[in-house]
Amino acid sequence: MDITGTIQKQAWVDKTVPPIEQVRPQVWSVPIDFHFSPVRYTFSYLVTNDAGECIVIDPGWDSELGWKQLTDGLAAAGLTLESVVGIVSTHLHADHLGMVQELIDKTGAWFGMHPLEDSYLAEYPDVAGARERDNSFSTRLGVPQDKLELTALTTEEVVYTHALARPTLLLQDGDILPLAGRQLRVLFTPGHTSGHVCIVDEQSGVIFTGDHILPRITPNVGMNAYRGQSALTSYYESLERMPEFDHLEVLPAHEYRFYGLSERAEALRVHHEERSAEIVEVVSDAGSLTVWQIAERISWARGWTGLNGLNLRAALAETAAHVQYLASVGRLQWGAPGGGSDSWVATLAA
Ligand SMILES: [Zn+2]
Ligand SMILES: [Zn+2]
Repeated sequence: MDITGTIQKQAWVDKTVPPIEQVRPQVWSVPIDFHFSPVRYTFSYLVTNDAGECIVIDPGWDSELGWKQLTDGLAAAGLTLESVVGIVSTHLHADHLGMVQELIDKTGAWFGMHPLEDSYLAEYPDVAGARERDNSFSTRLGVPQDKLELTALTTEEVVYTHALARPTLLLQDGDILPLAGRQLRVLFTPGHTSGHVCIVDEQSGVIFTGDHILPRITPNVGMNAYRGQSALTSYYESLERMPEFDHLEVLPAHEYRFYGLSERAEALRVHHEERSAEIVEVVSDAGSLTVWQIAERISWARGWTGLNGLNLRAALAETAAHVQYLASVGRLQWGAPGGGSDSWVATLAA
């Protein structure tokens, strides 16, 4: 891996915020504050054309400081809010999508996102419905009664999610974004979320990877694991698409930019294989375990006991994605022993 964002890397190490940088003649990276999260900031990218029009990829978390950083970024690139003709969010997480609505309101720009992200947001009609779905998910995963409060969605989270911007342009794999004179291509890369997309810019020689590929952090996989195919199966498929773009500089949404997309994709695949092996081992030792019991027994970068809220849900969802994947390839069995509303239990496949 060849780290090209050396100033970004230094800022990451020093725990400071990297500067706005011009990455290519028509591409700028603008860090947006997300200080209360371990990732600390999200890179918003400005992509321009010869006519001085601009697309904003991942505007970032919604805050007063973030808005100032974004408008400072536009100014550094010689642009104004009037230059913004389009907005893209690689996926629905609020550290990418948060500021989109304000940007739409102030620019009238189109807003593109994958339809699966939109349908997920559409399923947040009310607090009661979201809570009910959340509860049945927790039951299936075997969250103990006295821990339900640690994993449950808060009312604020549901209300916040419901208020996030909805796309005016649905992005499908292979679509070219409407920015005159530029060939920005949508690449469908589900896994981190069910409708995650990367944006390929061959003219500039870069790929915007959102949270699909990060240089050091392993992106969480599985928050949408309870819908359809295992999120991990999707993630593996999306990683397999990366070698075709190995010649491009990777512009991720967090940390720092680099070359070596294939190598990084392979490292992420291996990480998940090892994780799966660890899960098979703990199930083999215990005989049968719920997802909660598996998650308690496997290793976590920041430990297990301190996790709560979103981080705990993410950890559980990732474990569930692995179990679901292992069941789909015949290495585990996973289901409700008594049927109905029991917690699901994983055992070694016969
Ligand atoms: Zn994300
Ligand atoms: Zn992110």
